[in-house]
Amino acid sequence: MSRDYDVAVVGGGLLGSAIAWGLGRLGRSVAVLDEGDITKRASRANFALVWVQSKGLGMPAYTVWTVQASQAWGRLASELKQQTGLDVSLQQNGGFHLTLGEDEFGQRTELVKRMHNQTGAADYKMEMLSASEVKKSLPLIGPEVSGGSYCPLDGHVNSLRTFRAFHTGFREFGIDYFPERPVSAITKSGGEFRLTTPKGELRAAKIVLAAGNANQTLAPMVGLYAPMGPTRGQIVVTERTMPFLPHPLTTIRQTDEGTVMIGDSKEDELDDRTLKHSVSAVMADRAQRMFPHLARLNVVRSWAGIRVMPQDGFPIYDQSETHPGAFVACCHSGVTLASNHAFEIARMVAAGALEPELVGAFSASRFGAAGAANNSGY
Ligand SMILES: Cc1cc2nc3c(=O)[nH]c(=O)nc-3n(C[C@H](O)[C@H](O)[C@H](O)COP(=O)(O)OP(=O)(O)OC[C@H]3O[C@@H](n4cnc5c(N)ncnc54)[C@H](O)[C@@H]3O)c2cc1C
Repeated sequence: MSRDYDVAVVGGGLLGSAIAWGLGRLGRSVAVLDEGDITKRASRANFALVWVQSKGLGMPAYTVWTVQASQAWGRLASELKQQTGLDVSLQQNGGFHLTLGEDEFGQRTELVKRMHNQTGAADYKMEMLSASEVKKSLPLIGPEVSGGSYCPLDGHVNSLRTFRAFHTGFREFGIDYFPERPVSAITKSGGEFRLTTPKGELRAAKIVLAAGNANQTLAPMVGLYAPMGPTRGQIVVTERTMPFLPHPLTTIRQTDEGTVMIGDSKEDELDDRTLKHSVSAVMADRAQRMFPHLARLNVVRSWAGIRVMPQDGFPIYDQSETHPGAFVACCHSGVTLASNHAFEIARMVAAGALEPELVGAFSASRFGAAGAANNSGY
């Protein structure tokens, strides 16, 4: 395997796929290298929300970036449909975060106030609703629901189908996808990057590191920095049931196929092979207190996944000063931000530079000083 590409994308998860697809759309020749099925992959394990509310506390630029992504998702879904015939089932008619009891309602109200008071935050329209107001949209809520927050920009999608659509699109754009090609070394010489894999070397004019948590190891090879602190999340899925949930919640959503997904925990463990039933039991209990009829449904599947979590919870997009043409991209909301990755990040990589006014706040140089607390809001 030895061939020249305009761009080599390292990592074939949702992030790498969105950027590669976006580059192919702009006529660039692209190779995507992926480690393979043995790896931990957030893109196969997520909850599939396209989510705005509460994102960006502590970093208003993240709120702005997320709102932009939400607004561009319709365009992404329709371009994918037109190109591949695949409907990714995007639904964006607003989402809820429900609270149980008065304490939770008070805490959520406080969070909404803090978000609204944040200087420079985009107008993301998150508001608190009483239980009776929530009931108008979600008639099957139980008596313990004290209310919740609502944001009209929130929605959800079929994220696995989105993934498949990107890969189907690869074929039309002539993008080469190389599974089982973990990159172990990267060097630059003669204006070209050389990527070492067990199946040979690949050369490209530019590279995008989109290898999820592995970016932490790969980034220093090209003078970049991607500090990560991954966490685990569990999801429980029920059998199919009648349509009852016209809006997704932070923790419950009904898929286009009728199943109910209940998620998602945040655990400090990094093993995605075992499930902690004590955690899924709490999730299931809260779900049936929100919608009592869920108690009648059988659970058919359950899994755990490892999040790609930059140390402070916010995305990292950066370009190398020592190795011009090398970029790094990682974030923990790769479903929500897929439209920005496909349209904006791809456009900037194709042009050769990240635009500071759009993504300057996400440079890893921010970790130099404070090492902020995790404020991902998700
Ligand atoms: C439980 C859970 C719930 C979530 N819910 C949501 C949600 O509702 N909404 C949302 O927006 N986001 C959600 N996310 C986050 C979202 O799934 C991730 O942000 C997104 O999938 C990250 O994509 P990625 O491509 O960066 O990472 P990954 O999917 O982890 O992909 C990284 C890829 O890099 C490859 N790789 C690793 N090392 C190498 C190497 N050396 N060389 C080549 N390839 C390599 C791997 O094989 C892998 O395919 C959730 C995540 C989890 C775990």
